[in-house]
Amino acid sequence: MLRYKIHRITHFELFKNLFRKSKSTKMSWFARDNMSNEDLIKQLSTERVVKSEAVKKAMLAVDRCHFAPAHPYMDCPQPIGFGATISAPHMHAHAAEVLKDKIKHGAKVLDVGSGTGYLCAVFALMVGNTGKVVGIEHIPQLVEKSIDNIKNWNKHYLDNGVIKLIAGDGRKGYAEEAPYDAIHVGASISEVPKQLTDQLAIGGRLVIPVGEEYSYQYLTKIDKLEDGSLRREKLCAVGFVPLTDRDKQIRGTIY
Ligand code: SAH
Repeated sequence: MLRYKIHRITHFELFKNLFRKSKSTKMSWFARDNMSNEDLIKQLSTERVVKSEAVKKAMLAVDRCHFAPAHPYMDCPQPIGFGATISAPHMHAHAAEVLKDKIKHGAKVLDVGSGTGYLCAVFALMVGNTGKVVGIEHIPQLVEKSIDNIKNWNKHYLDNGVIKLIAGDGRKGYAEEAPYDAIHVGASISEVPKQLTDQLAIGGRLVIPVGEEYSYQYLTKIDKLEDGSLRREKLCAVGFVPLTDRDKQIRGTIY
């Protein structure tokens, strides 16, 4: 079990990330906030979370100020309403790094639980003008907001159809645009939905947090091999909000 390192960002660990111990006084704590998107990406590169030029370039070009409602450059998740969060920057970076070999120019990507649309923007830069990124999110108000976020960042990607944001149940994937070279799921589930693996292209990769709700899960990488079989690998322990029913999520909303 030790080989599965507990990922530093879980919602239970939010406060650990928000407040790091001061070196000067043992009793005080401070929030590590960066001054700019560039500083944040520099931090993630120093910490070796951002590893590749492709991910670094894309994350530098998508300023989180257009997506996060508060503290855009702090490395922790933030509530975005309706019981959802924008994931922590290092979680976004980690997902993009795991998927980067599949998100080349011209690739097709599905982002399930697209929330603010931040990762759709990062993926759009990675697939370029000949690729396509579909974001599916089940709270219509969040879809509307994510469209506004992308417009404020760079409306070109909506105008040219590279980014498509739709309201729907992401557990079913989005068959209309399948197959996908990469599927990212930003919320956790106990069993991987078959529709998602069915919608993977041969050679494609799915990254999804698998485990019980409101506990920890394992970020899991699933590759579809040449013969259509699936190869599964647990990457690290994480704590995501659940991939669930819309009403259940809204009923359980605490922020
Ligand atoms: N990756 C996004 C959001 C992560 S939070 C970001 O960083 O901005 C997980 C998101 O999954 C939430 O927005 C939540 O509303 C959404 N979600 C949960 N269950 C879903 C489902 N069944 N279908 C589609 N989206 C879902």
